[in-house]
Amino acid sequence: MNTSSFSALPLSPAFLDTIASLGYASMTPIQAACLPAVLDGRDLIAQAKTGSGKTAAFGIGVLNKLNPRFFAIQALVLCPTRELADQVAKELRRLARFADNVKILTLCGGVAMGPQIGSLEHGAHIIVGTPGRLRDHLGRRTLDLSHVETLVLDEADRMVDMGFFEDIENIMRALPRKRQTLLFSATYPDTIRQHAGTFLRNPLEIKIEARHGNEKIEQRFYMIEAEARNQAVIDVLNHFTPESTLAFCNTKIHCRELTEALQARGISALALYGDLEQRDRDEILVRFANRSASVLVATDVAARGLDIHSLDLVLNVDVARDQEVHVHRIGRSGRGDEKGLAVTLCADADKKWVKLIEAYQESPAHWYERSEWRSNGLPKPPMVTLIIHGGRKDKLRPGDIVGAFTNDGGLNGDQVGKINVFDHVSFVGLERSVANKTLLRLDGRIKGRQFKMRLIEE
Ligand code: ADP
Ligand code: MG
Repeated sequence: MNTSSFSALPLSPAFLDTIASLGYASMTPIQAACLPAVLDGRDLIAQAKTGSGKTAAFGIGVLNKLNPRFFAIQALVLCPTRELADQVAKELRRLARFADNVKILTLCGGVAMGPQIGSLEHGAHIIVGTPGRLRDHLGRRTLDLSHVETLVLDEADRMVDMGFFEDIENIMRALPRKRQTLLFSATYPDTIRQHAGTFLRNPLEIKIEARHGNEKIEQRFYMIEAEARNQAVIDVLNHFTPESTLAFCNTKIHCRELTEALQARGISALALYGDLEQRDRDEILVRFANRSASVLVATDVAARGLDIHSLDLVLNVDVARDQEVHVHRIGRSGRGDEKGLAVTLCADADKKWVKLIEAYQESPAHWYERSEWRSNGLPKPPMVTLIIHGGRKDKLRPGDIVGAFTNDGGLNGDQVGKINVFDHVSFVGLERSVANKTLLRLDGRIKGRQFKMRLIEE
C-alpha cells in the first residue's frame, strides 16, 4: 500500500469515502507527516507553506476524535483573521460530511455578538474563531470551553504578529490542561519558540521543506533604480502581461501608493493590507479571486494564508527582508502543474537581501536585463464584478444567481464566473464584454424578486 494513501490511516470507511469524494487522492507531505501523530493524540508543532493542506492535517484528527452525540465544544481552532476562519470552517464542514450533524461555528469580530451568543446556546461541537472575539465571549461567560479536547493554533506566527499573543494565553487558561494541542505556523518565530514549552506537551516537531525546486518556479531578478520602482512594476506588467499578479510591498504605505500609481495608469489594481475593514477585505479578495482585478498589491502579513490559487506572476516589488518570506511569496505562483513566474525588483540597497536569499535557496539569483521589457500592453481583466445587495440572510443562494443570469440574463455558463454570497451582499464575476447587456436584460430580478445591483467601478 502506498504510504501516502489516506487508507493507510486508522479512519472509518465512511470518513475515507468522504475524503475520496473531495478528490483527495493521496496525502500531501504535511498531512503524511502529521496525521499519524495527530491521530495518536500527540501534540505537535508543524511548519509548512501556504496551500500545503494544513487544514486537513489537523481537521481529520479533530473530526475523527469528535463525538457528535455529545453536545459540547470539543475542539477549538484559533485563526488570525475572519477569512481564514471562514476558509477553515468550510474545509472542516466538507470533511465532516461523513458524520451526522457536526455543528461547526465561527466566532469572529466584525459582526454583532448577539447572534453569536444565540448560536452558542444552540450548541456547537467545533468553534473556529479569532482570538479577540473568543476573549470577548469568555469575558461575558457565553462560551464554555471546559470540554475542549483539541486546540489548534492555525497560522500561529501571524496571530503573534497581529498582537494576539496575550489573548491566546488567556484563552488557554479557559481550556482543560489535559488536551491535545496542534500548532501550525508558516515560520517559527522566537515568541512562539519561547512559549512552546508551556503551550504544548512533548510536541513532535515537523517541518516540511519550504524551498522550491527551481524547476517549478522561474525566478527572474532585475536591477532597478529605487526612485523608479513603481514605473518598473508597470513595465513588468506590460511586458509579461499576466492575467493575475500578486505584488508584494514591504509596507502598507508603499502598498497604497503603488496601487494608486497603477490605477492612474488604467491598470486594475487593489491594495490589501493589515487594518482594512473586514467588509473591504472581503470585497477586495472576491474581486481578485473572480478575475476582475489584474493586480493585488499586498503586504506579507495581509496576504499570508489566503487561499489564492492560479497566479501568473508573483512580483516582489520590494525584496523580502526575510528569506523564508521570499520563498513563501514565490511559492504562490503557477497554475496547477504549470511553471510559475516570480520577478524580483532589486535596487542597490536591496542587494544584501538578495545575497541572503541566494544563500538560503542554495542557488544564485538569475539576473536579467531591463532592456528586454517590451510594452505589450496589459489587457483588461476578463471579468467584472457585480455587487448584489442581497445575501444569505435574504435567502439568496448561488444557484439562484446562476439561474437568473443564464435564464433571464441570457448568458451561457462560462460567462458567469465565481459567485460569493455573504450575509447581506453577494458578488458575481461576469464576463466583461457582456456584463452591461445582461444587467439591462435582468433588470434587478432574481427568482421573481427585485434586488439592487451594480457593477463595481474600477
Ligand atoms: P494551508 O492551510 O496549508 O494553506 P489548505 O488546508 O487551505 O492549505 O489547503 C489548500 C488546498 O488544498 C485546499 O483547497 C484543499 O481543499 C486542498 N487539499 C488539501 N489536502 C489535499 C489533498 N490531500 N489532496 C488534494 N487537495 C488537497
Ligand atoms: Mg491554512
